Amino acid sequence: MNCINIEQTIKQINTLNEAVQKNENKKFELKFIYLNEFDDIKDAINKFGIIHKQGIRHTDIEYYAKYFPPCMNFLFKKLKEKNHLKFDGRMQFGLFLKCGVGLSLAESLLFWEKSFQPKFDTIEFNRHYAYNIRHNYGKEGSRIDYTSMDCQQIQNHSEPKSFDHYHGCPFKHFSTSNLIDYLNFYIRQYRDPSNSIISSTFSSTTTTTTTSTSTSTSSQDILPIMSLVSQKSYCKACSCLLQLIQGGGYSYYYGNTSSSIDAQEIITSPDKYFLSNFNYFIRK
Ligand code: SF4
Repeated sequence: MNCINIEQTIKQINTLNEAVQKNENKKFELKFIYLNEFDDIKDAINKFGIIHKQGIRHTDIEYYAKYFPPCMNFLFKKLKEKNHLKFDGRMQFGLFLKCGVGLSLAESLLFWEKSFQPKFDTIEFNRHYAYNIRHNYGKEGSRIDYTSMDCQQIQNHSEPKSFDHYHGCPFKHFSTSNLIDYLNFYIRQYRDPSNSIISSTFSSTTTTTTTSTSTSTSSQDILPIMSLVSQKSYCKACSCLLQLIQGGGYSYYYGNTSSSIDAQEIITSPDKYFLSNFNYFIRK
């Protein structure tokens, strides 16, 4: 696709965004129809992953969350439950929303303000939290335009130290039983659409808490993932999960693939996981 076509595609995407904003209830249906109408948009998604960089609204995050990698899916889940995240969680998730999903500063401020309600009202939010969000976007302090963290930074940055810290990488920082429970929950989001983040009663937290190990049948499915975790191959385990939810079975393990990543490709950042996963499912 040449530059002219990309410009045309972006214009078409903007037209789509205007259409879906006028018809909130049919947003994703319209988006799907539109994608099937324009092959060049599908090309753009395949090559550049630009669809979700255009006109993302704070209300869209609910829909996108299913396609997030486990680290970000878990942070969003806890944010919804607690109406709050500690600093490290806000930093990890906020930079992902900015760079990985494409949320603008204005939409990001709306997202966080609404997510903190009713625990914090607008005055408290603006007093205590808005500065950090603007700072992430390079609008305050040193005015550095921060990028999102990759897997290595998330795994090695700082270990969650107490039960109310939800940042980090589940593959590295969760206890074995909590990771099994969480992976079962995560996989069920794909197998049972009604089992959304909103409706789930899943109660896993970080390594410092105790939850019962799930006995659901998908525990068997995740044994190869747990094997990679036991070898401290956290990014390989994440890649293996991605292929499992995309219906490729254990292509990562066994060398053949039908998923959005090559058989031996390794996920190295949450941005890459989301882009690959979202684009795979939107094309189906
Ligand atoms: S391996 Fe990377 S993308 Fe996957 S859960 Fe861990 S930090 Fe997130």
